[in-house]
Amino acid sequence: MADISFWGGVGVIGSSKVLIEQDSWRVLLDMGLDFSPKPDLFRGRVAPRADHVLRDRLRTGGAPWLPHLYRPEAVARLDLAGGSDERTALFITHAHPDHMGLIGWVDGEIPIYGSPETQRIVTALEDSGMGCEGGRPALKTVGNGASVTFGPFRVTRLPVDHDIPGASGYVVETDDGPVAYTGDIRLHGRHPEWSLAFAEAARGCRALVIEGTTLSFGFQTREPSEREVDECFSDIVGSTPGLVLLALNPTNLERVAAFLMICHTHGRTILWPRAQAQFLQLLGVSATAFDSSQLAAIHREPHRYVVQLTMRSIPDLLDLPVGPASVFVYANGEPFGPDDPDWQVLLAWLRYTDTPFHPIGTSGHASPRAIHRLVGLAHPDIVFPIHSEAPARLIPPSETVRWLPERGGRRFPLRK
Ligand SMILES: [Zn+2]
Repeated sequence: MADISFWGGVGVIGSSKVLIEQDSWRVLLDMGLDFSPKPDLFRGRVAPRADHVLRDRLRTGGAPWLPHLYRPEAVARLDLAGGSDERTALFITHAHPDHMGLIGWVDGEIPIYGSPETQRIVTALEDSGMGCEGGRPALKTVGNGASVTFGPFRVTRLPVDHDIPGASGYVVETDDGPVAYTGDIRLHGRHPEWSLAFAEAARGCRALVIEGTTLSFGFQTREPSEREVDECFSDIVGSTPGLVLLALNPTNLERVAAFLMICHTHGRTILWPRAQAQFLQLLGVSATAFDSSQLAAIHREPHRYVVQLTMRSIPDLLDLPVGPASVFVYANGEPFGPDDPDWQVLLAWLRYTDTPFHPIGTSGHASPRAIHRLVGLAHPDIVFPIHSEAPARLIPPSETVRWLPERGGRRFPLRK
């Protein structure tokens, strides 16, 4: 008899951790860090203590209190068994920290699976100094449509569309029927057919676990397409007389490629913070790192450059030719949206430097309408909305039961 429990992503966006158990075998889907501002005690200048990071996360509920998951030394002096029980496997949907930020703590004997692209991105993040806390994780890869048999489970990985390459959904076959998990998913990106095929593959499943990020923001129906974002960026780059500043998540490799092409067309070079340039170079992207020796050239010809900023590099605005002739293009980089405490800090810097702010970009997450379409296609017996501040806004189709997950390990039986 199989059951399912939720160790994150309950009433919050991010931090997804979905546990499926049967006959003492376990499949854990995602192991994300908690980024939500409301319950997260570690925000801004308050960080876990350097020599107690995992312990501080475990004691505040930010890491799941599960035995035989972590390296023994990481849970020493806690009443929690470390090391592998050889009956646990971890599957990661994509390389965003709110889905894999805790895998650096996982015991080395526990297999961690993901797509080949996820493995490449995780490796490049590690090698450019932007890796996971805890330690360097080792991922095993699963091809598109391929399955892993683990104990009584068969786990199949399928591609879905999100704002990072390699995003995946999983279908876990249990004795009580298949459980499908979308990870993060959307229909307005460059590959809607992947997300639709995933919903088809999940059709009639016993349970569907679906992300409901955009339900948090009401019932707005439309997100711009990635093509519209590209067109908007092209217009801005072409019409701005001075320097263009940019905030783009470098792991959104398809948008990076599109923006590089647009800048090339307009005779501009994108300059990246050093670690991000290194990350992109490791993935075969030709990216130029920013350093202060380029300042004279940027002042001479600001219209030939785009400077990507992170919160750490924001003070570079003091040295750059910014002001009313330049523009700050926010395209889903840092800070991570208006709920991020750094959002107001960014706006204060732009006001101080008299630099116009132009948000473009589009969500990595399905609109409420698209979420309902995906649930309707899958038509599961049970739907669990997670990764949302308003999961109750998901209205299930007839004959589907909606269960609202509870945090902290309440086990929902999957038996009919
Ligand atoms: Zn997410």
